[in-house]
Amino acid sequence: MQLQKNISLKKFNSFGIDCIARDFVIFKSNNELIEIAESFQNSILDSHFILGGGSNILFTSKKIDCIVLKNELCGIQLLRENEEAFFVAVAAGENWHQFVLTCIENGWAGVENLSLIPGNVGASPIQNIGAYGVEIKDVIESVEAYHIADKCFQTFSAAELDFDYRDSIFKSRWKNQFIISKVIFRLNKVPNFKISYGSIDAELEKMGIQTLSIRAISDAVIRIRSSKLPNPALIGNAGSFFKNPSILKQDFDQLKIQFPEIIGYTNKNGSIKIAAGWLIEKAGWKGFREGDAGCHANQALVLVNYGNATGSEIFTLSEKIIESIHKEFGILLEREVNIY
Ligand SMILES: Cc1cc2nc3c(=O)[nH]c(=O)nc-3n(C[C@H](O)[C@H](O)[C@H](O)COP(=O)(O)OP(=O)(O)OC[C@H]3O[C@@H](n4cnc5c(N)ncnc54)[C@H](O)[C@@H]3O)c2cc1C
Repeated sequence: MQLQKNISLKKFNSFGIDCIARDFVIFKSNNELIEIAESFQNSILDSHFILGGGSNILFTSKKIDCIVLKNELCGIQLLRENEEAFFVAVAAGENWHQFVLTCIENGWAGVENLSLIPGNVGASPIQNIGAYGVEIKDVIESVEAYHIADKCFQTFSAAELDFDYRDSIFKSRWKNQFIISKVIFRLNKVPNFKISYGSIDAELEKMGIQTLSIRAISDAVIRIRSSKLPNPALIGNAGSFFKNPSILKQDFDQLKIQFPEIIGYTNKNGSIKIAAGWLIEKAGWKGFREGDAGCHANQALVLVNYGNATGSEIFTLSEKIIESIHKEFGILLEREVNIY
């Protein structure tokens, strides 16, 4: 464990925002994590920041005045299996997409639709990552996390984590209390193919796939995502900046009169989920650019840093978009990206 001072986080966040960490330390084992927590005691309790792959954060100031703990815990281990599933423990610092590829290699089914999502395994439960009709909660058996104040590791079943759309207890009641160290996945032996969401089925057809497999689905998702989403290595971004809002059915019916082309998906509780990207595009923000902060020209839901935007410029743009959507549609957008 080596404490570094005044480290630039520019290369550690997919927005490419230049923000200086007052203190920066990498941990590669549970023992190192315990050592850090003990040596920094109260200062960690007061203020710390856990950094994974940095693909879902926006730093809005020039300096982050706390200890940044960079998680580099590694290891993937098949724990056991039963008739239906493999139980696999994955250390929090493993790259998410590399883990998905390991699953494809081993015939562990359930995460193929989540191919190519950036970031680390440890952050995947935080916002219950999801894409193409699958959410991580569907394959999480349990999560191991270090409680910073109590200085102990605890294990939680998926049922205890209040998973919801891009949400979990780690974003609400337990915010900043835990460092996720390991996720145990329950992966199916017999795949339950989900291809009707997005354009997976059309892509499989284009690829000439005759026999469906988790590898084929993963390849299709990779092709779709690569063609649609801006690559953070080329243009700084954090994927979808806002969550898709849900509104009451009667409010949706009203909007439908005004905007007949609006599409909504009925949630289990009867409310209607609307594509935030559609609202932003309809309000005229798609392709908008102010300095180096912008709203992507092909994906209105993705805010981008064209080079030298500051985090606060991107944040200000997000404020303007929220205000404009509220004014035009009466809907309050919520940010998906974590703001610091
Ligand atoms: C191009 C692009 C596409 C994307 N597509 C999707 C998508 O399809 N679906 C989706 O759900 N998301 C998507 N995302 C968002 C992002 O990839 C995910 O949210 C991912 O899980 C973030 O992982 P990370 O390791 O980069 O987390 P970070 O950005 O490093 O951290 C995110 C939050 O989690 C906290 N955190 C991180 N690790 C830990 C830990 N071990 N313990 C406690 N707290 C922790 C951080 O403090 C921070 O609050 C996309 C992002 C990009 C750039």
